[in-house]
Amino acid sequence: MIQMIQLGNFLLMDRDEFREWLSKQVVSRNIDRLQVHHTASPNYKTRRMVNGTAQQDHFECLEGMRRYHLSEGWSGTGQNITIFEDGKVAISLDRNLDKTPAGIRNANSGAICIEIIGYFDKGNDIMTDKQKRAIVHVYACLVEKFNLSIDTNHIVYHAWFTYGGTRLNDYTPGESSKTCPGTAFWGDGNTIAAAKKNFLPQIQEELNRLKGQNNISEEDQPMTKEEKADFQALQEQIKQLTSKLSMDKIPDWAIEACVAAKNAGAVDTTSGGSYDFYRLITVMYRKGFFK
Ligand SMILES: [Zn+2]
Repeated sequence: MIQMIQLGNFLLMDRDEFREWLSKQVVSRNIDRLQVHHTASPNYKTRRMVNGTAQQDHFECLEGMRRYHLSEGWSGTGQNITIFEDGKVAISLDRNLDKTPAGIRNANSGAICIEIIGYFDKGNDIMTDKQKRAIVHVYACLVEKFNLSIDTNHIVYHAWFTYGGTRLNDYTPGESSKTCPGTAFWGDGNTIAAAKKNFLPQIQEELNRLKGQNNISEEDQPMTKEEKADFQALQEQIKQLTSKLSMDKIPDWAIEACVAAKNAGAVDTTSGGSYDFYRLITVMYRKGFFK
């Protein structure tokens, strides 16, 4: 069921709608990197979370970000994709996948910018499970679509770049332009080691799951109990039909007719005939055809 909503400058969908939507997108620019960002603001506080549910409307949040980006002189919303605390995924219509994002200064070419709603520096927002599941799913789908390797060259944290866009060996306080996606991102932090610990393996796991879904087609499914019973009944019917078509031996009631037909030169052979063949021969014999 399609539940995605298009409103203003964004398309909002459930996590499970993303893969199919993505499969239909035609992207002509070369994609070789997926950026990882947290929004810092908006965050769980500005979303007015009450018992895990945000009181602020998704589109209000999205349009707010867009207005801010435009006020900075950008041509549109900075990111291509936004992932919410409830697992909803938003696509920026003014920054479709074919448009280079404004995510990491001087390091946006060939990249898709994904913004994760929240502030994940230590002591701030604790990421919800729904958001985590949506994140690994979105990255796995993008990896699948653009045939990328799951490593720290193709899935990159903002914190691994300087303000000028130079790639660093790791998050380096004082040199990194930001802490983004947060010093407590994924519970592990924003370093290379942190990414390799749980985040990247979980994307790989999700990708394996998606590929597994592709491979199990209808035919590969084992038969159910009912299907097995139906199949056995069908085999029995075929066996009976086959035995009627070509009988092992001439039925006793047809022997006399067969001998007569052969003697009369009506047939060359009377063995291995079908049930109907013997009936016909018998009827003809009784009518006096082989005298
Ligand atoms: Zn960032």
